[in-house]
Amino acid sequence: MSDCIFCKIAAGEIPSNKVYEDDKIVCFHDLDPQAPVHVLIIPKKHIASLDDTTAEDEELLGYILGKVKEIAAELGLENGYRLVSNCGEDGLQTVKHLHFHLLGKRKMTWPPG
Ligand code: C5P
Repeated sequence: MSDCIFCKIAAGEIPSNKVYEDDKIVCFHDLDPQAPVHVLIIPKKHIASLDDTTAEDEELLGYILGKVKEIAAELGLENGYRLVSNCGEDGLQTVKHLHFHLLGKRKMTWPPG
């Protein structure tokens, strides 16, 4: 999608601090970190949100979730982490390209705000 900022990051048209990339996904540091480690994992395919996924995205979703532990290990999150995907208005999603926040290196609180 031509006006999507995360599509541009995935394509390398906008610089980002990448920690992992392959043919399906990109992981980069969040510009406004909410924890000592805060990265975003996004599919290269433009999907607006979890609510916009279809049956054809199931393999990709499984792939992303399967990569989380590898990326977490690479980032030294051996003590645990939180994975979050904000969806829609009530979920406070601001960027309309599916992304998973991976946060760690601090004790999280519950419930989230
Ligand atoms: O889940 P939500 O849509 O609110 O999160 C978007 C995230 O993308 C924010 O944490 C924001 O800091 C991050 N962001 C970024 N680089 C950009 C634009 C947004 O890391 N260029």
